[in-house]
Amino acid sequence: MTALRPEIAETEQADAGAGQGAGLVGLHESIATLLASRGQWRQAYQHLRSALDLVQADQVEEPHVPEQLRREVDRLRREHAEAREQSLRDSLTDSYNRRYLDQQLMDLLAEHGACRHGLAIALIDLDWFKQVNDTFGHLLGDRVLQRVVELLQQGLPEGAFCARYGGEEFVLVLPRVDAVSAVAVAEAARERVERHPWDEIAPGLRVTVSAGLAYEPPADEAPQRPAVSAEQQLLRADSLLYSAKQSGRNAVAYRSDGRVRLAGAASGRRAITQTRVLGYY
Ligand code: GH3
Ligand code: MG
Ligand code: MG
Repeated sequence: MTALRPEIAETEQADAGAGQGAGLVGLHESIATLLASRGQWRQAYQHLRSALDLVQADQVEEPHVPEQLRREVDRLRREHAEAREQSLRDSLTDSYNRRYLDQQLMDLLAEHGACRHGLAIALIDLDWFKQVNDTFGHLLGDRVLQRVVELLQQGLPEGAFCARYGGEEFVLVLPRVDAVSAVAVAEAARERVERHPWDEIAPGLRVTVSAGLAYEPPADEAPQRPAVSAEQQLLRADSLLYSAKQSGRNAVAYRSDGRVRLAGAASGRRAITQTRVLGYY
């Protein structure tokens, strides 16, 4: 048993010595109830776990107690998992939130250095969204954000996810992809938003997005390239997003052979705004 106050630990030793496990089980249960009422699910779960272990080790216990405890442990485990999941979700769109994004990017970039995988980050911003709110109202704007997230999340490759970066900006994180697939995935997401029948939500409504796609190649493909932080890669995506906006919106901008390019149909646009970020290849 861990993390008990000293007086509780002493009680445990006395009980164990005297072979009175039942008292200790009750003590664990009481502490678990108190912790659960405060929302400290993990600690509550640990105490119930300890109680369960004691009961299982001591066969003189009533047989109905382990079942009761097991159910309680399961319930707490579920509630803990749900609470944790909710703390990582955005309440409006149900996409992952900024906290989850930051955690994942830290892990992925560490893995990226070690495992030699490519990592793509697309920063996506709704076009003229202020006008959508002004014309159709903020509530409808909220529905648009929810629908956009559904569309962005469709058909993502394994391990990829969408997170709300803030306001009407979202991030698609695409781990373990090559540069060509990353562009294709981001362009397909942009196209899904463009082609969606927005008229069904409100006559005259049209929604498009622009994206900046920053791709970090596997280390063995570019050994001389210094490792980037999540902030640097997001900064690069942001700079490319600016290019996409300046080049007419409703487009995915990415960098290839030192030049900013637009994906898909937008690649034929005559004026593609070139932006530079310090240290960018
Ligand atoms: P651009 O194409 O340059 O991105 O133009 P824009 O109008 O989208 O850009 P701007 O940054 O001026 O407007 C963003 C708008 O997004 C303003 C803000 O009210 C709206 N917005 C941000 N978060 C929410 C939200 O949760 N719900 C709604 N309905 N609107 C939001
Ligand atoms: Mg914005
Ligand atoms: Mg916008």
